[in-house]
Amino acid sequence: MKALVKTKRGVGNIELLDVPEPTPGPGQVKIEVQGCSICGTDIHIYHDRSETRPPVTMGHEFSGIVCELGEGVEHIAVGDRVVSETTVWSCGVCRYCRMGMYDICPSRWGLGRGGDGAFARYLVMRAVMLHKLPANVGFFEGALTEPLACCVHAATEFTHISGGDVVLVTGDGGIGLLTLQVAKACGATVVLCGHHDERLALGRELGADYALNTAREEPRPLIDRLTDGYGVDVVLECAGAAEAANLGLDLVRRRGQYTQVGLAGKPMLVNLDLIAYKELSVAGSFNQQWTSWERALRYLRDGTVKTGPLITAVLPLSRWREGFALYEGRQACKVILTPE
Ligand SMILES: [Zn+2]
Ligand SMILES: [Zn+2]
Repeated sequence: MKALVKTKRGVGNIELLDVPEPTPGPGQVKIEVQGCSICGTDIHIYHDRSETRPPVTMGHEFSGIVCELGEGVEHIAVGDRVVSETTVWSCGVCRYCRMGMYDICPSRWGLGRGGDGAFARYLVMRAVMLHKLPANVGFFEGALTEPLACCVHAATEFTHISGGDVVLVTGDGGIGLLTLQVAKACGATVVLCGHHDERLALGRELGADYALNTAREEPRPLIDRLTDGYGVDVVLECAGAAEAANLGLDLVRRRGQYTQVGLAGKPMLVNLDLIAYKELSVAGSFNQQWTSWERALRYLRDGTVKTGPLITAVLPLSRWREGFALYEGRQACKVILTPE
């Protein structure tokens, strides 16, 4: 089968290769991939800014159909429509694994980096990592469960949003557009800030009460009006940029919450004094846990969160270069690659 493989460390070194089809071992299942979305992590892998264990098939945001069961798998059946968490392996003995937090195991291997991923026709995955895709959720929409689960983790498991809160979401990329929907689902009034007019328009369609292009518009008057001059209750920083982080720290109210979701990939110059002056609760969020996946799938099933509108290109795996370029150049929001 064709698979998109990081062949060795270094910039580039990604090739579409013929590799043998995998066979499921005990506790594993074989899945026929229906679609796999390109993520910022894949771009970092391309530029070798991300840890990998090559040669490894890339891709971790996918959906598929179970086509073969390994020994001892009983809760999943052939034909099940599934999505999967991304922990390929965790040690089982560290304090986090023993507490069920395998997503932060220091020795963890992630799908598409430490273990073969879903930019291929088939992959094998540990059956315990799978979640069933609701019948009314399409495969492409379902492929975005992984980034949605990250947003659910950040907005509902590390941040406490109450109905009526004013929430500022900075960053109009895929993560910002999903996070704003989760904040809406929690009952918040959402202000989205970004730099791309089409994305901001999409943000409004997806439920943002206000969407501002901060390259042109100063958000302070709006925030003052919405909060009687106090500032927003919650900031979810999804851009991973110093400008956005400082904007959030500036606009959050005293004793408000600030959660960092976006990654800059390098140190940022931000004014941490504001955390002290304003007595902020600050959190960071990176992966997701079992509960984030279950809640993400409920949101998709109920239509509370929509992932479909974020998908702006679907390409066969052989056109991966084009897909990566569209994604990195921000001409496309989310790009799905389909196996061939
Ligand atoms: Zn991802
Ligand atoms: Zn562990």
